[in-house]
Amino acid sequence: MSARIEALSRRLDLPLLVTNLTNVYYLTGFDSSNAALLVDPKGGATLYTDFRYAESAREVPGVEVEMTKRAMMRDVGARLSGKVQFEADVLPYLEWQRLAEGTAELVPTSGIVDGVRAVKDAEEVAKLRKAARIADRALEALTAETWVGRTEKQIAWRLQELCHAHGADEQSFPSIVASGPNGALPHGHPTDRIVDRGTLVTIDWGVRVDGYYSDCTRTFSTGGLPARLREIYDVCLDAQKHAVANIKAGMTGVEADALARDRISAAGYGEAFGHGLGHGVGMAVHEAPRLSTESTDTLEVGHCVTIEPGIYLPGKGGVRIEDLAIVREDGVDVLTGFPKDLVEVG
Ligand code: ZN
Ligand code: ZN
Repeated sequence: MSARIEALSRRLDLPLLVTNLTNVYYLTGFDSSNAALLVDPKGGATLYTDFRYAESAREVPGVEVEMTKRAMMRDVGARLSGKVQFEADVLPYLEWQRLAEGTAELVPTSGIVDGVRAVKDAEEVAKLRKAARIADRALEALTAETWVGRTEKQIAWRLQELCHAHGADEQSFPSIVASGPNGALPHGHPTDRIVDRGTLVTIDWGVRVDGYYSDCTRTFSTGGLPARLREIYDVCLDAQKHAVANIKAGMTGVEADALARDRISAAGYGEAFGHGLGHGVGMAVHEAPRLSTESTDTLEVGHCVTIEPGIYLPGKGGVRIEDLAIVREDGVDVLTGFPKDLVEVG
């Protein structure tokens, strides 16, 4: 049995039917578009898939393999018995109905595998570090070029090229390049706006390497900033550094968030920081745990999280500074290496 299935089974009182394909992949290494994994509290595991994946399923160590029809839930439902938990946050209603026609008593759950997946082992940390490094190098190359006079879209496309050139398998998500007033939109898409002199440009980008994602944000100056924009940069950077310096295992997601939020609020920009401080990253760009005012998570050793406060002034501009870090007993190990002091681009 894999160590990951074992770690999951230790958290179970009842069998769990895993249908989130990323979770199935995480637990078994089985990469399929049609699979489910039943994990027993005692550690046994049954992998369901269809004919197309029969060969590769048989190579998965430590699991029983059962073939099903391509529309698998009705088949699986007929083979289960007793109380069986399912991933209520990912199983579509129609699929649940098919499963429910069967012989098991279904118990909704959420976040069980996610809690195991959130804790990264050394091999996973190495992959995350590699992704972060490739992303750093791509951005370094981009900062050597001229930005002023190019559109946000052109810069985003160029960054994508550079990510691939530096070894990315793909981008974590379409890069955000937000200049001038567009920087006030935390998740603004690149537009045809031409990057001006004398403003801030926020770039949020990441790459996937060996199945793991990176996520990072830096905000740049194009020289001669208005005092207000310089001020929000300094406030955001101070809050970000304070959070990086103080986050550690045992802290709640709410406490971690407050490290940055309290600083930004004290400077008078609390209202302008309208999102959470961070999120887990791994085989998905957004996963457990959450660092926010609404988080119910507690940070554990081995969690990989972003630390990304932002300040957004509608009509004027915005700043966000985001690092990727591994939570340790007494602090964090930052994976992103790109400088955070305000870098001026031409
Ligand atoms: Zn990001
Ligand atoms: Zn992020």
